[in-house]
Amino acid sequence: MRSIEVPEYEVHDEVRVDPARTALIVVDMQNDFVKEGGSLLVPDAEGTIPNVRGLLDLARENGMKVVFTQDTHNEGDPEWEIWPEHAREGSWGWEIVEELAPLAGETVIRKVRYDAFYGTALDHLLRTWGVETLVICGTVANICVHYTAASAALRWFEVVIPRDATSALDPFDLESSLRQTSFLFGGKVTHVENVRLTA
Ligand code: ZN
Repeated sequence: MRSIEVPEYEVHDEVRVDPARTALIVVDMQNDFVKEGGSLLVPDAEGTIPNVRGLLDLARENGMKVVFTQDTHNEGDPEWEIWPEHAREGSWGWEIVEELAPLAGETVIRKVRYDAFYGTALDHLLRTWGVETLVICGTVANICVHYTAASAALRWFEVVIPRDATSALDPFDLESSLRQTSFLFGGKVTHVENVRLTA
């Protein structure tokens, strides 16, 4: 193994968002990734549930749009050649964890790839709502969170990642993803308690 240092990147003390122009995107907080017995468990993911919940409360109390993504695969999906079988449509593992269950009227985007924009109506919905900023949390930091954030940034949405509401399989992967978000996308990395609303 080779040791390298993580280059400096900015972690913002405060990020202000306008709730009328911001959506919270909760990525793939499904049993297979989050809960004991899940087929592709990210050990740190369950510990982020209270922080994700905090963001959900902030969004819900202030009329911010909320979108959940739900990784969704069926028999023969080529992703199961890269990863163990996971997120089989209709299974327990596919369901979003009960602590973070979507409310009636909240949007759930079923996605087949890491990028929640790929083959979905997400871009259309965000434009229709007049959303300009995305606060993105969930798991896995360097996979579905990262590729969704990347895809959003390429579309010129402002991207905010509260780092304590995301999780990865390996600290290297987490840091490299956050560094890319900051350095390459001009996204803002912060902590949950530092996501504030514009006055
Ligand atoms: Zn998948």
